[in-house]
Amino acid sequence: MRKPKELHRFYKSTQWQVAREIKIREANGKCERCGALGEEVHHKTRLTVQNYLDKSISLNQDNLEFLCRKCHNEEHKRFSKSQQFDEEGNLIHR
Ligand SMILES: [Zn+2]
Ligand SMILES: [Zn+2]
Repeated sequence: MRKPKELHRFYKSTQWQVAREIKIREANGKCERCGALGEEVHHKTRLTVQNYLDKSISLNQDNLEFLCRKCHNEEHKRFSKSQQFDEEGNLIHR
């Protein structure tokens, strides 16, 4: 499957960087699940090339979750059937 370039572009956008920063600040830099040092902002409703332009999904603070790498990986593993790309738009290998 090809890499979704549109998603790559989204993750590089200023809008996303700002939304991400707000989320990280709100979470005090800590994983919202286990309290460890957070690293990645996760979309509860997964971003796809079909929905990333919908700001109520892609930029909605309520749809974001700040996670450490471990919790983030678990989250994606759990939904591996429906999720093929991580937040950077990279294919997740299973
Ligand atoms: Zn965690
Ligand atoms: Zn994620």
